[in-house]
Amino acid sequence: MIVAIIDGYTDEPAGLGVPPYLGIYPRYAYGAIKKASTKTRVFYLTIDDLRSAFFGEMGIKTKNRTPNFPEAKNILRKADLIVYIGGLHTPGKYLSAVPGSVEEISHFIRDVKAEKILGGPAFMGSASMGGVRITNRELQLAELLFDHVVYGDLEAFLFDHLTNPRDADPFRFRTYDELRDYAVIGAEVVKQFPDYPESVIVEVETQRGCPKAMGVGGCSFCTEPVRYTVVEDRPIEDVVAEVKALYDLGVRHFRVGRQSCIFSYMAKPNGRVPIPNPAAIEKLFKGLRSVAPGVKTLHVDNANPAVIANYPEGSVKIAKTLIKYGTSGNVVAFGLESADPKVAKLNNLNATAEETYEAVRILNEVGAKRGPNGMPWLLPGINLIFGLPGETKRSYEMTFHFLKRILDDGLLVRRINIRQVVVFPGTPLWRMREKVRVEKHEKLIQHYRHKIRHEIDLPMLRRVVPVGTILRDVRAEIFENNLTYGRQIGSYPIIVGIPKRLQLNRFYDVLIVDHGFRSITGIPVPIDVNSESPKVLEKIPGIGRKTVVKILANRPFKSEADFFRIVGEEKRKLLGGKIRT
Ligand code: SF4
Repeated sequence: MIVAIIDGYTDEPAGLGVPPYLGIYPRYAYGAIKKASTKTRVFYLTIDDLRSAFFGEMGIKTKNRTPNFPEAKNILRKADLIVYIGGLHTPGKYLSAVPGSVEEISHFIRDVKAEKILGGPAFMGSASMGGVRITNRELQLAELLFDHVVYGDLEAFLFDHLTNPRDADPFRFRTYDELRDYAVIGAEVVKQFPDYPESVIVEVETQRGCPKAMGVGGCSFCTEPVRYTVVEDRPIEDVVAEVKALYDLGVRHFRVGRQSCIFSYMAKPNGRVPIPNPAAIEKLFKGLRSVAPGVKTLHVDNANPAVIANYPEGSVKIAKTLIKYGTSGNVVAFGLESADPKVAKLNNLNATAEETYEAVRILNEVGAKRGPNGMPWLLPGINLIFGLPGETKRSYEMTFHFLKRILDDGLLVRRINIRQVVVFPGTPLWRMREKVRVEKHEKLIQHYRHKIRHEIDLPMLRRVVPVGTILRDVRAEIFENNLTYGRQIGSYPIIVGIPKRLQLNRFYDVLIVDHGFRSITGIPVPIDVNSESPKVLEKIPGIGRKTVVKILANRPFKSEADFFRIVGEEKRKLLGGKIRT
């Protein structure tokens, strides 16, 4: 039997599967299929492979990466079963990947004879951008295109379907007991990931459901508590066993990101704010590090700021654990969404502005020190959602002033993510959909987005990554408009624009020379001052046109001393040890 798993990529409140991330769904699906039958051949294709296979030969340029399977069409033709995985619930901007949709995949597979299954969050609909209301059009199309649309857990359905098809139930959820084998067996699929092994980061699951939602209900817009009505913590041994399997296969980048709040892992239920369990988190990360000693990235994702603000002692212990066993450049994303208490109440948001401020302060105290990759060890990020019911002009002002206070108090925030609300059927927001303010507040949204980018993001980026910082291991990802864009591998890495063409898919150490609103400009080091182009040299702070002319006239330099004698000794402070002659 031949199975083709097609990864259309996934992005949801508690989990990411957009390259360079390999999400949980393809891994678990592969594991379930292989557990059902070891003889089955399972191919992992990405939506990019299909775009290249179908359109590449017609000269239509796809934005993306080198296809892993130029023979993708053949695989589809031979496949007995096609499993498509997709769904965006929290759409973002992706540097080099473009997620697929049910509509897009239908062009590639509608004439293929194989049986077809849809898995991943797409069953609830998908939003390619913020500010939209999900219609049932995608689901109707899915029901027509696929033989089975899986509403429960894809891996549970696949295993049943392949072993006992008559009892296979698309609404069935598996337990963590059942997942154990699927996850370990499924690790092997990473070998088919296009950028394996150097450039893949694997999203690791520790929890499903939302502890805060269990106590007081979910946030109005969120799909996580709709999908998982109970909270389940994944056993430490299972998480460690999966990471070991992946590490043994050569994976070096991990994000323990598939959970709504890492600080609530194995926490004690306690209404709105669960009581954290630092000992369990220490045991988890110690275990991960023991099986993955040479890990290059060990990061996390979401956290509920209310937990940190209300249980500072336990939370400081957890933050120290993340630093002790993790790697620098780690980011904990806080979902504040709005600083207006009226909006927070109406939408049952998880934390107040005061709690979020306190959580930012606490994390800064523990994590703001710079680590070996050039980034601070552990910083907060802040998620905002514009267009929620109850918003007024004053809500935007309050949110802006909240951010300004953080900036003025000298605190660090790695990133401020501004989304426009997406209305999903089944969420509490669906019932309030007429009160969504995206259209009504279009101008306000534009104004405050611009104001935050200019007045908060820019000075904050200058503080988080000052000129002269060296960011290690920046992976060159795409070349566009005469710039190579790259980023470190990890949780919310900063995008670096490099003003020259670099070989892609390689890692560079980069000297930061300038800042934009959401990205920064850098130059690979060491800078070869005898051969580097004037265009790049000019980007170095303090080296204007006149100095570039001097450099060109005096090349070749024999030594660093020779170079600084010509350009001025004061440049040594920024460039000392970073040039090559
Ligand atoms: S705290 Fe709110 S946004 Fe976060 S997972 Fe729970 S319900 Fe969703």
